[in-house]
Amino acid sequence: MHRPALSVVVPCYNEALNLEPLHARVSAAARAAVGEDYELVLINDGSRDDSWAVMRRLAARDPRLVAINLSRNHGHQLALTAGLDLCSGQQILIIDADLQDPPELLVDMRRVMREEEADVVYAVRRRREGETVFKRATAALFYRLLDRVTDTPIPLDTGDFRLMSRRALDAFLSLPEQARFIRGMVAWIGFRQVPFPYDRAERFAGETNYPLGKMVRLAFDAVTGFSTAPLRFASHASVILAAASMLLLFYIGWGYFQGDPVQGWTSTMLVVTVLSAVQMFVLGMIGEYLGRLYVESKRRPLYLVADVAGPVQGRATLGY
Ligand code: UDP
Ligand code: MG
Repeated sequence: MHRPALSVVVPCYNEALNLEPLHARVSAAARAAVGEDYELVLINDGSRDDSWAVMRRLAARDPRLVAINLSRNHGHQLALTAGLDLCSGQQILIIDADLQDPPELLVDMRRVMREEEADVVYAVRRRREGETVFKRATAALFYRLLDRVTDTPIPLDTGDFRLMSRRALDAFLSLPEQARFIRGMVAWIGFRQVPFPYDRAERFAGETNYPLGKMVRLAFDAVTGFSTAPLRFASHASVILAAASMLLLFYIGWGYFQGDPVQGWTSTMLVVTVLSAVQMFVLGMIGEYLGRLYVESKRRPLYLVADVAGPVQGRATLGY
């Protein structure tokens, strides 16, 4: 099996307008880095526009392009997993389809990888153009919160834009989980990983495929995948609540013997509602973990491939 020097892996969802410029810029960058010895792997994640038609057209004229059509929309992290499974390069560049991450940085990222003898060079966002204040604020908060609760140090302000060596990718591919937070999983494998600061551009065309709901889900996958802190919250909370109850008991007892017993039911209701809220929260967190345990235990394939255009050498979970 021939391993090209470089694979560029791009998950795509409704990116029809971005594919041609992406293809041109990525091909030029790959050529500048490794000459002709590269492959470009595009994954169509069940797009509702004509992304797949565009990909097929591009694949027909470019023998270095492999286009993979998933059976439906599996989500960004699983589409990316499909591409990583199926690519065969010695170095692997992960990049978004919307050209927010400039492919021209590839040459510099390879230089850093060589000079630092690194297995992973991950791009850290120094600035983010054209993203709403809300997105930037929630992202900043999320990365910092995640860092506090997880046991694996996950680099701040880092997306999936990164260059990996084959041995790092093979290590990554040995992690079987369904709920995937890829940047965390890559951090978990270890090896030598170095940051690469860059300025994130605006989307070339189209709009974000990460509305609030998907962001929250990714955040939950990140926390539950890398930490059990929320499960421990119950035991911590119980200690604090027990202490508070003792104080309350002393206060009420004191009032009783002073001939001034507590009156009315406001205080009772308050305690009941506060405690039910805490209990519901704890139950909800247990539910989150239990639900994930259930999904994992089904051991379904991570994704299904419907069609392939171009030469594929990796392992594929083909749906036909
Ligand atoms: N994407 C995907 N499947 C999805 C959603 C997104 O493959 O269900 C791809 C999308 O085409 C893009 C990348 O994931 O290449 C990042 O998505 P997006 O640019 O919408 O996210 P943002 O940059 O706004 O966080
Ligand atoms: Mg984007």
